[in-house]
Amino acid sequence: MLQEIAPHHFNNAYQPDRLPQEHDYVIITLNNEVALTQEGRLPGVKDVDTDQLTYLFMIDDQAYYYTDQALPSQCSYAAIRGMKDSLQMYAAITGVQLARWYQTHQYCGCCAQPMKQDTVERKMICPVCGHFVYPHIAPAVIVGVRNGDHLLLSRPAQSQYKFYAMIAGFAEVGEMIEDTVRREVYEEVGLKVKNITYYRSQPWSFSDSLLLGFYCDVDGDPTLTVDQNELSMAVWMPRKEIPLHQDNISLTGEMMKRFKEGKDKDSYQ
Ligand SMILES: [Zn+2]
Repeated sequence: MLQEIAPHHFNNAYQPDRLPQEHDYVIITLNNEVALTQEGRLPGVKDVDTDQLTYLFMIDDQAYYYTDQALPSQCSYAAIRGMKDSLQMYAAITGVQLARWYQTHQYCGCCAQPMKQDTVERKMICPVCGHFVYPHIAPAVIVGVRNGDHLLLSRPAQSQYKFYAMIAGFAEVGEMIEDTVRREVYEEVGLKVKNITYYRSQPWSFSDSLLLGFYCDVDGDPTLTVDQNELSMAVWMPRKEIPLHQDNISLTGEMMKRFKEGKDKDSYQ
């Protein structure tokens, strides 16, 4: 998956006083795209004409900073999913999630005064009324629904991607995550499910979410009633015919592969 960068090491400990060094990188984002050099990498500290840099995180001994200053010359905005270097793609999407949070929390939601970055934790705090905000992470489920030797595959109605996916959706306020699984499956394809089993998780910064992967079995009638607002299609795909994703980015792709290989009932090691 996208986040599996070993032997590299991601360290998101908050170090707001760390001074930028020449070999560090800078995240500049607009409309969820990221600034890249002509060589297709993130710009370095020496490429940007500003010292207004906000510390984000480290990967190995290189830090990543955010700035809302203008696009450097020699750089242009590009889609993160098109990046060739998977380590830089992971740094870019994680950095853009944090940058998006800084951009959208410049003012207090209670009293509308300018917020300040806290000196101890990664949070924005209002110096007037004391209101504070941490980065938001939205829990969401990815669900592999089994019907014996078949797996439920679908395509989201709005998605620009044409490969198969599985049932997915955000947890609602006040909802247990197992009930999110039941609700999303019922809403999208009209099925009841049982044997809900947690597999593993994936931070998915494209949508500020933390994906929680579950497998489960259809309970009763397997007839699909597709919600056309959510899905363009859904099908029970035989195990042998499950197509594999070409990249190794997503939890969805990994769970489809695991079912195809008959490993969906093994716990993740
Ligand atoms: Zn305030």
